[in-house]
Amino acid sequence: MRLIPHWIGGKHTTDEPERTAPVFNPATGDQTASVALASTAEVDAAIAAAKDAYPGWRDTPVTRRQKILFDFRNLVVEHGDELAAMLSAEHGKTLGDAKGELTRGLEVIEFACGIPHLIKGDYSENVSRNVDTYTIRQPLGVVAGITPFNFPLMVPMWMYPIAIAAGNTFVLKPSEKDPSTSNMVAELWAEAGLPDGVFNVVHGDKVAVDRILEHPDVAAVSFVGSTPVAKYIYATGTAAGKRVQALAGAKNHMIVLPDADMELAADSAVSAAYGSAGERCMAISVVVAVGKAGDELIGRITDRMRELDIGPGDRAKDMGPLITKEHRDRVASYVDIGLEEGAELVVDGRELTVEGFENGFFFGPTLFDKVSPDMTVYRDEIFGPVLSVVRAATFEEAIDIINANPWGNGTAVFTNDGGAARKFQNEIEVGMVGINLPIPVPLGFYSFGGWKQSIFGTHSVYGPEGISFYTRPKVVISRWPDPIHRGVDLGFPEHG
Ligand code: NAD
Repeated sequence: MRLIPHWIGGKHTTDEPERTAPVFNPATGDQTASVALASTAEVDAAIAAAKDAYPGWRDTPVTRRQKILFDFRNLVVEHGDELAAMLSAEHGKTLGDAKGELTRGLEVIEFACGIPHLIKGDYSENVSRNVDTYTIRQPLGVVAGITPFNFPLMVPMWMYPIAIAAGNTFVLKPSEKDPSTSNMVAELWAEAGLPDGVFNVVHGDKVAVDRILEHPDVAAVSFVGSTPVAKYIYATGTAAGKRVQALAGAKNHMIVLPDADMELAADSAVSAAYGSAGERCMAISVVVAVGKAGDELIGRITDRMRELDIGPGDRAKDMGPLITKEHRDRVASYVDIGLEEGAELVVDGRELTVEGFENGFFFGPTLFDKVSPDMTVYRDEIFGPVLSVVRAATFEEAIDIINANPWGNGTAVFTNDGGAARKFQNEIEVGMVGINLPIPVPLGFYSFGGWKQSIFGTHSVYGPEGISFYTRPKVVISRWPDPIHRGVDLGFPEHG
């Protein structure tokens, strides 16, 4: 059985791990590898490697750091197909979706390539007689990232390109369910010329996470995952004096008003609910249909559901399996609960089998109608291909439903009325808003983050907020006697 080791100080670890976890191909249900689960000593070794590398890396000229970022970006592009195939085989998402994930991660690397510009400070001359004031942004030291299974390539890329570009050193603890791409990324960093110890990968579970959270040499932690774990990470990390950003779970609603383009709305609902088998924090899991929009949508949505091509990620166009058997069973149990609580099951995904892949963790697209906000299928984050339709009599009622929901990651409105769209963007208590598009994930030069129970901490992730999270501002007030510069040099000034 292939063993997936850690990457510490510029190389893979070779010690026999004390504990491992199985890694599956979700399409076949077969175990394909074992991943090492780090002990506290192994986490300590990764943090020590990052700490040793920090002084040299933070003092590396920013233009040199930028060059390594560009080289890394080019290597990721060059190996894109390989990374996408590796990701699809462990996660189960379609190859097309895996490539899309890579593209969205690359955006953040490309943003981070602009680091010389992004960390420029301010300068004010003569704030008092012969006194100048300026600001500089400096890195924090060793920072850590703890990431979820659903975007094993992209979510870590929301973090480490900016952290590393800004001069920090990084310890990544990826999801133990689909760990392989993180090791390949580590190899690409090394090939790009990143010094040993600047980027480290420790695989593991709560043991590794807890050690990161308590370790005195870790200055900051970025977390993305479920809400209960995010709350724990935020409380524990901040209590240990660390800077923490913890992005959490979601229940994303899409309002469809009666004047909307119903074909576009149905396309969007199906794409956003069932893409990646619903295992996206920005998936639409609730359509709030206002007035006659409900009856107009249901048929259009079911027609489209029938057309979906479902199968193993390397063959199917639309949807692959869920991540584990346990998760598949959990999603199925929600369908049972929905029926018990009186929701109307329009399409039932429980019995789906894919020929030749009977042991895979497949679950068919499922649609509930006439769901009410007190039902469990509405209240819980199911994180599978289950879409609920809630009927609302008015636009105001639809907005109230969303604002009463404890989560606030993403949302959307479908309408042809500009005034309604403007009212929505103004009143809705959600961090990322789509107008006639269902998954409003900001590009790499903006920042990503929800509101309410979808985030803990003040910083959202990547973009300008990422620069702010991974640096500290310093202000300098200076006064100098007239300096005399000596020496003649006719050469053209070079950097580095
Ligand atoms: P998860 O919370 O189970 O795991 C996330 C990370 O935390 C993993 O690295 C895991 O090993 C670790 N972990 C799990 N349990 C832990 C514990 N008890 N103590 C310490 N560490 C623990 O999440 P997941 O199932 O991998 O990912 C799906 C969740 O992530 C969903 O809730 C989804 O909405 C959320 N998510 C949110 C965003 C966002 O940007 N808001 C993005 C992607 C995923």
